[in-house]
Amino acid sequence: MYRGRFAPSPTGPLHFGSLVAAVASFLDARAAGGEWLVRMEDLDTPRCVPGAADSILRTLEACGLEWDGEVSWQSERLDLYRAVLDRLRGEGRAYPCACTRKELADSAAGRTKSGETAYPGACRNGLPPGRAPRAWRFLVPSGTVDFDDRVQGPQLSNVETETGDFVLLRADGIFAYQLAVVVDDAGQGITDVVRGADLLGSTARQIALQQALAYRTPRYLHVPVAANAAGEKLSKQTRAPEAGVNDLPAVLRFLGFSPPDLRGGELLRWAVAEWNAARVPAVFSVTV
Ligand code: GLU
Repeated sequence: MYRGRFAPSPTGPLHFGSLVAAVASFLDARAAGGEWLVRMEDLDTPRCVPGAADSILRTLEACGLEWDGEVSWQSERLDLYRAVLDRLRGEGRAYPCACTRKELADSAAGRTKSGETAYPGACRNGLPPGRAPRAWRFLVPSGTVDFDDRVQGPQLSNVETETGDFVLLRADGIFAYQLAVVVDDAGQGITDVVRGADLLGSTARQIALQQALAYRTPRYLHVPVAANAAGEKLSKQTRAPEAGVNDLPAVLRFLGFSPPDLRGGELLRWAVAEWNAARVPAVFSVTV
């Protein structure tokens, strides 16, 4: 049985790029006769905006994107994330880290091609004397992770060298997205993850974690990111406007359709019947 999900972070209203992800994931689920869940990823409380979750849900409703069951809220599942972190600790797959942001930024070791810093592993073999734990990290196993993205094609990563041991519980006490998303995708029996290509690079980390926890890896489909003329992802930072039902035709064109002149629910029904992931452009971003 197909089960998909849309997992917005309530940090602002739904903009065009998130609507693309919502529509793609909805169409893929409905075309497969499957279920479609909505999960609010509201763990990063300092970034969450009051009223944003409501506004996102209203937009989904207005667009005819009806979800199955109750909306789930990550903020209500902290015990679950804690239990999984405890399990990883018990198995020696998670360790405390004392490094500060500044220490990591200053460390030249492990800088990758993209300019991102891979965690150099300073606390891997134990906290330095006299230092207190700040965050908890996943002890990333050696080797490569590969998966076949349904749109972006075959992907191969080495999480150990590209990212290093990544954070599971942040220094501010907030569970990291990578841990929560893996626990929830598995716990909710998600078979297919359809989301924006900005998360393509996170997928190998999530698979590495799934493997450590003996969870099943879902199939992945990453749709292009909607970018502005400057090549920046549309987001709150780029002041992307709120999207709505009137954007549906443009969303469908973005996903490779040639939509007929239909409105709202009828247009969506047409799109479910016509959905074909092979038509989605296999690129990282598309300018809108
Ligand atoms: N909450 C994430 C975001 O809004 C999406 C997570 C996911 O789909 O895996 O970017």
